[in-house]
Amino acid sequence: MSKSRNLIKKGTKILTAKPFAHILSSKFSTNRCDYCFKSFSFVYFSGKLFKCSACQSVYYCNKSCQRNSWPIHKVECANMKRFLPKVVPDAARLMARIIIKLNHGGGEEVGYYSETGYRKFKDLMSHYADIKKDEKRLEHFMYICGILMEILGDISMPNYPELIGIYGRICVNSFNIVDLDMNSIGVGIYLGPSIIDHSCVPNAVATFEGTTIIIRAVEDLPCLDWSKIRISYIDILKTTKDRRTELQSSYYFWCNCKRCEQPEPAAIAAAKCPNESCMDPCSPETDACRKCNTELPQNFKETFAEVAEFTGHHLQNMKHMAYLDVSKACLKKQEGVLHPLNMQHIQTLQSAFDSAVSLQHWEEAESYGKRLINGYLIYYGEIEPLTGILYLLIGKIQLYLEKPKQALEMLKKANSILTITHGEKHSLVRENLKPLLCQATMEEVYDS
Ligand SMILES: [Zn+2]
Ligand SMILES: [Zn+2]
Ligand SMILES: [Zn+2]
Ligand SMILES: [Zn+2]
Repeated sequence: MSKSRNLIKKGTKILTAKPFAHILSSKFSTNRCDYCFKSFSFVYFSGKLFKCSACQSVYYCNKSCQRNSWPIHKVECANMKRFLPKVVPDAARLMARIIIKLNHGGGEEVGYYSETGYRKFKDLMSHYADIKKDEKRLEHFMYICGILMEILGDISMPNYPELIGIYGRICVNSFNIVDLDMNSIGVGIYLGPSIIDHSCVPNAVATFEGTTIIIRAVEDLPCLDWSKIRISYIDILKTTKDRRTELQSSYYFWCNCKRCEQPEPAAIAAAKCPNESCMDPCSPETDACRKCNTELPQNFKETFAEVAEFTGHHLQNMKHMAYLDVSKACLKKQEGVLHPLNMQHIQTLQSAFDSAVSLQHWEEAESYGKRLINGYLIYYGEIEPLTGILYLLIGKIQLYLEKPKQALEMLKKANSILTITHGEKHSLVRENLKPLLCQATMEEVYDS
């Protein structure tokens, strides 16, 4: 494995790669380019869209994207057409694309992660034995195979073990391709970057520009040693137990990173001290606060358990869609019971923030966003794309609410993070953040 001797400063781009195979999530098939994922709201002004006239299922932002996509799309096109009006599920489409690619010599394609280090598709871990023991995954695999039989027509299918191998490689090596707000819009397999292991305290982050993945260091590193580069595979706004469970069931390993091995921050499952001015995290099991000696109310243990259960139940139901009224009901119950940095409380604030943003309830969104900041700093860390984006969103909302001074403060914080995690040239920084910073600076001068 190659090492460069040079110090890598945080913010340095250490790898970029184009996907080996990628698919746009079918949810976005009519409003994003199937090849480069560009959103059509920008394209409408510059010209017309290009629709594949044969399958009528995919759109491109221009002729060049259509041309670049054709070598793979020409093979899947007839099959997608045969499947109409049903939509081919994303996982099946990605798998079909990989099979098509491998049938056309794709197995020889190499993805470099250093000058001499590279990986081919077969080098990706398949977790063959784990998949074969995983009932849930096997069931999904059989479902995908059924669709593949239907859509692949006369394309030759690999044998059963090879199919499981491909499926396993997709399961454990896929990257969610995200838009500027970090929402998933598609999935890609990247050969070089698949070398990178996971940590719940990563020293690198992956961001996307279109479908190109960009890996940047978020800590100063003594040298570029790929065996020590870590990104996070999952959303780490979770307790150690929940992160380990998710990593085990999705990626088949027990996380031994330094965060998982350390005791959790005391606040993560703590109660609020009844003394308003005391911020010490209390254990719901004790009778009094260890710091200020204020006694916890009678039956507090039961109250705490009830709130935790109520919250847990609703958070589980809101896994895919957050509701403002439900989030608010949970927050109300948590008042004076859960510590402000209790993980359940932070997760509830997150769903309140997300739903307030999507309902465009800006005052509420601003307030929830601000209350989220400390939780983000503790559980995500400061130099983290999501922390930077939270500051950016709050700043944007504050500009809208005509609070330029506060907005400027937030946007400056966003700037100091996002120029490291995304870099000065990333479109999030150039096209979103910088114009907002400029606006806030001008409005603040005018305001004062
Ligand atoms: Zn395009
Ligand atoms: Zn087509
Ligand atoms: Zn971990
Ligand atoms: Zn106290």
